[in-house]
Amino acid sequence: MLPLDPQADIGRRAWVACPNCDDRQGCATCEEGRTCARHWRYLLSHTGSLLHLQCRSCTHIWDHETHFGATRSRWERVTSGLRRR
Ligand SMILES: [Zn+2]
Ligand SMILES: [Zn+2]
Repeated sequence: MLPLDPQADIGRRAWVACPNCDDRQGCATCEEGRTCARHWRYLLSHTGSLLHLQCRSCTHIWDHETHFGATRSRWERVTSGLRRR
């Protein structure tokens, strides 16, 4: 397992399925597309609509293209804390 990235901040979270451990399987909250209290990823950084994420369950790091550039409300549902900084 990788160590937690120094940029990992519990105040910046993203609700994206982890491609490595897929820990949202069978979670009713995640299936409804709600902001689950257990299944979220650290949002290390982002460039436009490309998110740089780290899974808190398996510490996998990956980039996720959201294509959310044009739909701001959808973007805000997936991420948390970006505007507070
Ligand atoms: Zn994972
Ligand atoms: Zn969940």
